[in-house]
Amino acid sequence: MTHFIDPRLAELLAPLWSGDLVVGSLVGGRIVPGTGDTITVADAATGEPLYAYADAGAAVVAAAAASAREAQVAWGRLTGFGRGRILQAVGRAILAEAEPLARLESLTAGKPLRDARIEVTKVAEMFEYYAGWADKFHGEVIPVPTTHLNYTRREPMGVVLQITPWNAPIFTCGWQLAPALSMGNGVLLKPSELTPLSSIAVGLIAERAGLPVGLVNVLAGWGHTTGQAAIANEIVSKVVFVGSVPTGRRIAAAAAERLVPCVLELGGKSANIVFEDADLNRAAIGAQAAIFSGAGQSCVAGSRLLVQRSIYDRFVAMVAEGAARLKVGRPDAADTEVGPINNARQYDHVLRMVREGIAAGARVAAGSDGSPVEGGYYVRPTVLADVDNTMSVARTEIFGPVVVAIPFETEAEAIAIANDTEFGLAGAVWTRDVARGHRVAAAVRAGTFWINAYKTINVASPFGGYGASGYGRSSGIEALHEYTQVKSVWVETAAEPVAGFGYAPGV
Ligand code: NAD
Repeated sequence: MTHFIDPRLAELLAPLWSGDLVVGSLVGGRIVPGTGDTITVADAATGEPLYAYADAGAAVVAAAAASAREAQVAWGRLTGFGRGRILQAVGRAILAEAEPLARLESLTAGKPLRDARIEVTKVAEMFEYYAGWADKFHGEVIPVPTTHLNYTRREPMGVVLQITPWNAPIFTCGWQLAPALSMGNGVLLKPSELTPLSSIAVGLIAERAGLPVGLVNVLAGWGHTTGQAAIANEIVSKVVFVGSVPTGRRIAAAAAERLVPCVLELGGKSANIVFEDADLNRAAIGAQAAIFSGAGQSCVAGSRLLVQRSIYDRFVAMVAEGAARLKVGRPDAADTEVGPINNARQYDHVLRMVREGIAAGARVAAGSDGSPVEGGYYVRPTVLADVDNTMSVARTEIFGPVVVAIPFETEAEAIAIANDTEFGLAGAVWTRDVARGHRVAAAVRAGTFWINAYKTINVASPFGGYGASGYGRSSGIEALHEYTQVKSVWVETAAEPVAGFGYAPGV
């Protein structure tokens, strides 16, 4: 069964695809079948096979890298304005195909259709936003002694490799592609082996909208084969990785062998802190959104709910009641609020973590007791109460719709618990005390922090982790630094030569 495509998927792919309807990698503008092992992907809604394809393998990676390098030369020399105009067109083309893209993302990632629609719109925004930066992020003149003129140039990295996870495939694709292209880079994009199709569709749509053919190449395959071959390819000059901590370590080590810099966007175990003076209704809605949206398969999920002891029982009951009301269902049903877990391995992990929590003394205030259900990878929104921060459910990223509720007494204790984790991706505080809100925001070690809010993000705002949640930044102007390197150019302007042994004299 090396090649298999479920008829529902074939119908969605046909208008988006180019050439024969086969699942492979996008290389030089064509879909190229892989040469490696067969990868079979299941429909998360049913557990049944959805498609099967061959892992790209080393030869496809080499062809993709050569294609990206060739196309990047002309792209990097284009004016920023010229690149921006094309990226605007890509954004519009994505909006024009928003519905088929959302349906593809929903079917292949098990994502509720309404979430997929929002994410596709965000992808279009990313291209539009970074189109605007293409001619506005540039070098500058540095004031040095008048014997010299010194200026900097912001140059593309060259060909960058982006490795992305399965939880938000099209979102992470746009998130990393748009700034990389804006700054003149060519791209090898290696999405998760479980979710390559929406990234390939974005690549094809971008080419039809005017992006040079072969500039973006999307590799469909495993990480340990195709991903590693891409990191080892001498054409790749930067690696941007979005995924788990163990894989991030492997990727950074492989890149270090070639002295290639990395950005690592890794996991989290974010603390959502609720004080007794908070607007509890808003905080409860926020706490549910923080953990149950995307079925908890979100790097910034508010997976540790820290609640002040005086309101602990009442507030945990509010969140548990809300959790029980959420509509769990098929990704394609219009009223689904919580879809399935993306894949069988992750489903087993989530259920195992719930069982481990119960065995360690946690109380199920709502949702699953860790038993599997028949048909599809569904987990009911789960609230585990009476958890302390030493339990494995409070320390390990569960990456599912499971929140652990931990009591605290004082502000200092809340901050200490929030920071008692290897991660540092995000966090939030709910309080009516303005000063306390800012104090807690400053004291918690995390790359993103919300006060009386959760999960708002914007392409203009920087995003990234502290500690084991990674390094480097995505989004906003920060991403432009990651996708460029700076060159300092000196020109001697003095009437007489000033060069000599050692350094030229200053003024
Ligand atoms: P993962 O680490 O298993 O895989 C991510 C990607 O790495 C996939 O494309 C995979 O094929 C590739 N990969 C795996 N092994 C590799 C290897 N040896 N060499 C090269 N590439 C390799 O992560 P996942 O399970 O797909 O995604 C879930 C994780 O992603 C969670 O930990 C989540 O928190 C994290 N995540 C982080 C962010 C962020 O911005 N910080 C965003 C989304 C997801």
